[in-house]
Amino acid sequence: MKRKLLLHVCCGPCSLHVLEKLRADFEVCGFFYNPNIQPFREFEFRRQEVAKLAEKLSWPVAYGAHEMKEWFAAVRGMEREPERGRRCRLCFRLRLEKTFLYAREHSFDIVASTLSISPYKVTAQINEQGLALAREFGIEFLPENFKKHDGFLIARRQAERFGVKHQDYCGCVFSKAEKLLRLRK
Ligand code: SF4
Repeated sequence: MKRKLLLHVCCGPCSLHVLEKLRADFEVCGFFYNPNIQPFREFEFRRQEVAKLAEKLSWPVAYGAHEMKEWFAAVRGMEREPERGRRCRLCFRLRLEKTFLYAREHSFDIVASTLSISPYKVTAQINEQGLALAREFGIEFLPENFKKHDGFLIARRQAERFGVKHQDYCGCVFSKAEKLLRLRK
């Protein structure tokens, strides 16, 4: 019998390739918890894209609330940090911590995240948080780097095939502002 894995899902496009890989070895359930996504309409858009995909793939996915106040409290003092900096580490921590809580409540054997498939994120920051939480919760974490072997490129192609739309910034208001500044330069 396959072990039960809870996969933290950041968005639809990043999920397909990761899910395909993990389903070979685990019984995978998704968990969408991303209060970092702002504004709320963007959060809703990404949540619905995941829901569409889940239906097409007969994939069970649970959805966490948009706890924006908690997110802003978690990254307080780090607002001016650049993307890939210290704010991101705290953002990963909050999202993965909630995933571990859900995993404990629902008796999952192991936790993983789609986050490392993005070339814009530092894999070591994600895995460092996941492994620290694994020690705290006594639940295993899979310290993967899904962007390896063209993972991101494959994910993009799969998303196009499935008609799942990509977003053009990471998620928080600060990453959106950074993106707009880059475009203006
Ligand atoms: S840039 Fe992305 S990972 Fe970093 S804090 Fe913002 S939403 Fe989180």
